[in-house]
Amino acid sequence: MIKFIFALILLFIPLLASAQTFEKTVLIAPPKENESRYFYVPFDVPAGAKSISINYEYDRANGANVLDLGVFDSHFAKDKSDMSGFRGWSGGRRNSIFISENEATNGYIAGKLPSGQWRVILGLYKVAPEGASVMIKVKINEVEAAARQQLTEEKAKVFDFPKRRRIAPPTANSYTWFRGDLHTHTFHSDGNWTIKGILDYAQANDLDFVGITEHNTFSHHTEIDSLAVNYKNLLVLRGEEVTTYGGHFNVWGLPKNELIDFRITPKDVSRLRVAVDRVHQLGLMASINHPTALCGGCDWSYGDWSVMDSVEIWNGAWDFQDEAALKLWDALLQRGNRITAIGSSDTHSPPLAENKNGLAIGIPTNHVGMKQLAQNDLLAAIKNGRVWISANPTDYSLEFSAFNGSRINIGDLAANLNNKIRFDCQAKNFPVGATVSLISNNQVLLKEKIERAEYVFAKELSGEKDSYFRLEVRSETGAMLAFTNPIYIQIKK
Ligand SMILES: [Zn+2]
Ligand SMILES: [Zn+2]
Repeated sequence: MIKFIFALILLFIPLLASAQTFEKTVLIAPPKENESRYFYVPFDVPAGAKSISINYEYDRANGANVLDLGVFDSHFAKDKSDMSGFRGWSGGRRNSIFISENEATNGYIAGKLPSGQWRVILGLYKVAPEGASVMIKVKINEVEAAARQQLTEEKAKVFDFPKRRRIAPPTANSYTWFRGDLHTHTFHSDGNWTIKGILDYAQANDLDFVGITEHNTFSHHTEIDSLAVNYKNLLVLRGEEVTTYGGHFNVWGLPKNELIDFRITPKDVSRLRVAVDRVHQLGLMASINHPTALCGGCDWSYGDWSVMDSVEIWNGAWDFQDEAALKLWDALLQRGNRITAIGSSDTHSPPLAENKNGLAIGIPTNHVGMKQLAQNDLLAAIKNGRVWISANPTDYSLEFSAFNGSRINIGDLAANLNNKIRFDCQAKNFPVGATVSLISNNQVLLKEKIERAEYVFAKELSGEKDSYFRLEVRSETGAMLAFTNPIYIQIKK
């Protein structure tokens, strides 16, 4: 009997592991221009801990203070130069998070809780001139009911999108033009989609690929991997929106649980290059997001776009910020740079009646010319510029190519030309009254109104200098309906 009681006590020790609380208030001064924007607060985790809850509070000072939250475990690299020990990031979305062996708040990584010194990482998005006083509370072996409830509610969200008959991607000029959105957010960062909601919506709306690009975390990878196998026509990319306080960039197709370091100080070009080099080492691409967005730290502060592989010229519904990005891109093309333009929705919420900020996936849509739908083919085609972009997945059809003895596609470079070249365009289903423009070297070479559902032109030009040729289709009011990446022509010297 005594033995039995002893065994019972042993059995209950882990379950009764005592709760411990760590509380600390730190005063954060506004960072100087070149200073790190990350502040680490260490705390100790004892052996055998079952859960860690973190709560932080500070005076928002009417928006003058905005501090982001993340966590590193005891495998944190002391020189802060790699992502060892990374356990998640929630930006400014949440005040309370938890991590346990089997589950964690969205954005955080569940799993073993190694003992030793962990760190809260605070991201200093905005700090008032007088500084910010931050109270951090860490609880070991006690999860706040509200944090657990939030996770349960997010997991239980169901979005029921109507299924439609699928329209297969069209084939033209030796490629199938697969359609996709490369920039979306779920509960794993600051979005209000579930991953299943994104996949259901993309599949029901004729998209062939979708990138789920959470801000500064990989907590969505496991769920993507377990769900994506159920969507046979959809290529799903594990993405990260590498979110710095001086601009954002997307990376698609990351290996499982791989994170690109986001701790780059605005304007620190050399540090940016280290991150981009890492992306290239992985065989992936780095793509600037919304370079001219006016949301405080969203615009690109790292100068020259040409160190990057592509740039999101069209973000969500077309507006003046996209117009500004288009101008900058065209200026780069005029200087001989051949960075690919892409577009994506950057949707954070489903397009539901009760949600004013909801945005459909595929607004706008990338049409990427590939032989087959596979991650490597997709990245290679984007890098090559074999992309045109339209306001939505299936309303419009646009074919643009050149002919000089052989067919030259969007993104291709036709070298050593010494004679005339013909440009062919076929545009279908655009609204009557829309305008097609052929643009080269800051000049509009042709501008025509569309007068019927099917519009065609063939224009012969003789090149005098190296040039790019791209198409835009705009509505009567000037809103962008579609545009292509250029065809590049090099003249024989
Ligand atoms: Zn962004
Ligand atoms: Zn985004």
